Amino acid sequence: MEVLTKNAIQILEDRYLMKNNEGVVTETADALFKRVAEYICGCEKKDSAKWSKAFYKVMSELKFLPNSPTLMNAGCDHAQLSACFVLPVEDSLESIFTTLKNAALIHQSGGGTGFNFSAVRPKGDLINSSKGQSSGPVSFMKIYDAATEYVKQGGKRRGANMGILNVDHPDIEEFIMSKSDKKSIENFNLSVGISNAFMKAVEDDSGWQLINPHTQKIARIISAKSLWELMVQEAWKTGDPGLIFIDAINDSNTTPDLGRIQATNPCGEVPLFDNESCNLGSVNLSRITIFKNGKYEIDWHELSRIIHIGIRFLDNVITLNHYPLPEIKISTLHSRRIGLGLMGWAELLILLNIPYASKKALLLAEKLMKFFQRESYDASEKLALERGTFPSWKLSTFGTSNRKMRNATCNSIAPTGTISVIANTSYSIEPLFALAYRRVGILEGKIQTEINAVFIKKMKMLNLWNSPIKKIVLESGNLNGCNNIPRKIKDIFTTGLDIPWKYHLLHQKAFQKYTDNAVSKTINLPEQTSLRDISDIYKTAYKYGLKGITVYRYGSRVGQVLQKCNVT
Ligand code: UDP
Repeated sequence: MEVLTKNAIQILEDRYLMKNNEGVVTETADALFKRVAEYICGCEKKDSAKWSKAFYKVMSELKFLPNSPTLMNAGCDHAQLSACFVLPVEDSLESIFTTLKNAALIHQSGGGTGFNFSAVRPKGDLINSSKGQSSGPVSFMKIYDAATEYVKQGGKRRGANMGILNVDHPDIEEFIMSKSDKKSIENFNLSVGISNAFMKAVEDDSGWQLINPHTQKIARIISAKSLWELMVQEAWKTGDPGLIFIDAINDSNTTPDLGRIQATNPCGEVPLFDNESCNLGSVNLSRITIFKNGKYEIDWHELSRIIHIGIRFLDNVITLNHYPLPEIKISTLHSRRIGLGLMGWAELLILLNIPYASKKALLLAEKLMKFFQRESYDASEKLALERGTFPSWKLSTFGTSNRKMRNATCNSIAPTGTISVIANTSYSIEPLFALAYRRVGILEGKIQTEINAVFIKKMKMLNLWNSPIKKIVLESGNLNGCNNIPRKIKDIFTTGLDIPWKYHLLHQKAFQKYTDNAVSKTINLPEQTSLRDISDIYKTAYKYGLKGITVYRYGSRVGQVLQKCNVT
């Protein structure tokens, strides 16, 4: 069992380890990994002990971790193990409130929910039964938000939501502005569902029709460009709305016979049909290296081994999961979607002496993810031969090309917001936010100051670690003020806000190229970023064929999780 950091232990004790009725922790981290491994090998017909050992080993060595609900709940009664759900919202009070109840149950178990509200008739529309006026999708989002707020007080973690409204809905402006006061709808990420037709209208500076989903009639015609500018302005101000590119999502849908996908989970890494769920897991790249001839290298053999174990683990989760609703069980078992991704990318680059903002990093990202996808597909194919293909395989893109697959999708790049803290590595594919930082909010009231451990290790290897440098890093969070460190070395340690946005986007593009689900990435921007930059970022994301885009300008939200460190 690897030694855990203080932060990791704190998070585990607060949320993940079993407790007795008095709230006293009764489990160690080692026992947690054993509990999860034992439960997840429960559907292995032969060699169950072998798989239990293999699952335990990859988790306890912090080389692979499943998403939080699996760590929290595996082995408990009626364990719900998935992080990602999409629920239907139809144009009726019955549907809206049934889904609200189901979302509450999912949040209670640590899962997050995504909804596309575009079927709901606009504000002011006629309600046939009462002859009154409808209050529109944004009003219902506010009710969902309030419910989420209360459920989170009793649940294991904050319930996250994704609210989507398509760009041709008559209430789209109200939706775009709905978080403008920086205090409303805090439990939602917002995304506008963007179509290719809309992007063309912006390009052509033409009129854009808003269509009433209830009557299918044109409600208004507005300027596409003005609507675009409104999105850009709000995203600059608050970080919301992001965009999801619905056509790009459906172009790579492996099960088009099941319909069009309209929504994603809260952080955007899994496009899902209504009533579908997906479970995630991530490989910790910072631990998949070998030290040879004085240098670190990627251990490709070990990476392949971990990917095969990870895919098997996640496929088992689908079989063993207790689904919150029968319809979710049916849809999920139909496609058996899983999302194996990665964390620790920035730390891997540091170990390899490669600056994040470099062509070399982008080439490696593509090479690595191509390998990652190929190995994941091979693992899923092997499982298909052993256990059978996913039920809707025949009409899927895999069926038509006659490749046997156990899972309709295999890869997602999740934010790894908590599991990367447990594994003590950098988030997902994000650059280091800062070399020293305070983490706020994961554990309310407890603020932890950290200097990145891989950075210290590398600086020691370079014989550059000393107390004046430590002081500068603690004060500023970066090496910019260290005049005696060569540029070439500083570049390896460039942090998030000093990385030009183009490189953030290019990393997202490189990883998306070989990710069948999607990549959750935040384009972290300095405070002085202009409206024009945000517009360029959103347009470039579309041009690159990304499935979604989220920006965050430093300081634009109250209570951000990571803050640059200014402590002495
Ligand atoms: N999620 C959630 N609440 C949270 C954080 C995450 O519901 O507070 C869900 C959400 O669907 C998100 C997914 O978990 O897209 C994966 O997030 P992340 O990788 O940060 O989760 P972790 O497994 O690290 O906790």
